[in-house]
Amino acid sequence: MHILIINAGSSSIKFQLILMPSEKVICSGMVERIGSNNSVLTYKSDKTNIKETKSILTHKNGLQNIVDILLDKTVGAIKNTNQIAAVGHRVVHGGKYFVGTTLITNEVKEKINELAPLAPLHNPHNLEGILIAEELFSEAKQIAIFDTAFHRTIPEIASKYAIPSTFYDKHGLQLYGFHGTSHKYVSEKAISYLNKDDSKIISIHLGNGCSATAIVEGKSIDHSLGFAPANGLIMGSRSGDIDHSIIFYLVNKLGYNLDDVNKLLTKESGMLGLTGYNDLRDIQLEAEKGNIECILALEMNAYRIKKYIGAYTAAMNGLDAIIFTAGIGENSQVLRKLVCSDMDYLDIRLDDKKNKIISNSLREINVNDSKIKILVIPTNEELEIAIQVFEKLS
Ligand code: AMP
Repeated sequence: MHILIINAGSSSIKFQLILMPSEKVICSGMVERIGSNNSVLTYKSDKTNIKETKSILTHKNGLQNIVDILLDKTVGAIKNTNQIAAVGHRVVHGGKYFVGTTLITNEVKEKINELAPLAPLHNPHNLEGILIAEELFSEAKQIAIFDTAFHRTIPEIASKYAIPSTFYDKHGLQLYGFHGTSHKYVSEKAISYLNKDDSKIISIHLGNGCSATAIVEGKSIDHSLGFAPANGLIMGSRSGDIDHSIIFYLVNKLGYNLDDVNKLLTKESGMLGLTGYNDLRDIQLEAEKGNIECILALEMNAYRIKKYIGAYTAAMNGLDAIIFTAGIGENSQVLRKLVCSDMDYLDIRLDDKKNKIISNSLREINVNDSKIKILVIPTNEELEIAIQVFEKLS
């Protein structure tokens, strides 16, 4: 079964064509900078690796470009759009409605639209991707996979905020959680590696966005991002946890309006705000050269993660493994070492040599005699979507 995975963002569409059940990636790529005359189309398969700069002004035009290259006589992967059995769409916010993989109907589209105020940067583009894919792949089943779905198991004790209940009951103000597809994928890999169905795991996704999830018996029971993807860990340009009275101070004393505050906390804060650099590789290089701001930012970042490990170990009353995943988690031996230093009280003890091994497969980096496993597990959200779509249709 050919499954096309689409992840439509504000100015980009990422795609992968995956053959199931063999899990073979036939081709992948993306259209970036949609809306400009310098849009970039990349396309990779066993046969070719293409990067073209061209004018792609709309998402429809972007997806049409993807279809054209998929059908291309020389480099294409399919002969006819009918070969695509299903299109799996990443949708960021499923609110309270969606607990799992969902066949897209008119009602589902209405709900995705209704939830747009909760994810204004994502849901409208996800919906647009669905509408265009319905036209271009009219024979295919259209399936939605929600980032929030994995976290629907979080109990009220953790998902409610301590504000009057009417905001929870009537307005849906609660923790929803994000990065669910990634946390589900890596935690399932960990459970089968540990061979323990009732494992207590902390999954730490460190990429552009960062989050930690407490997982018991494969189910999310708490998570660091909240109502929006803003809370918790220090991210590339997002502050994570902050005392909300700072917002009132910014508005009442420093003359910020709410849009300015939002921009400050989501686009100008985090590692970028602390150091002037967004990419952790640059921050690590600067830290090596002795840049004090960068050294402190790395330590602050690791300290915040440590606090979540402590909190979730207490919440789960135990711990079997922590997982590092995504761009930073999989690649930054520096941050992993900072996080796992001075954690021997919890029996989290890193093996320095194993931490330095570069690999793109699941690996254990704790010392041999520690009870708590420290795992590095490459995430693969596209494959997880393909697996879920295939299961839904089988
Ligand atoms: P993601 O959102 O999972 O694609 O992660 C992107 C982030 O991973 C980038 O912003 C980088 O900061 C980080 N990253 C990627 N490769 C490395 C590396 N080799 N060392 C440290 N950080 C990395």
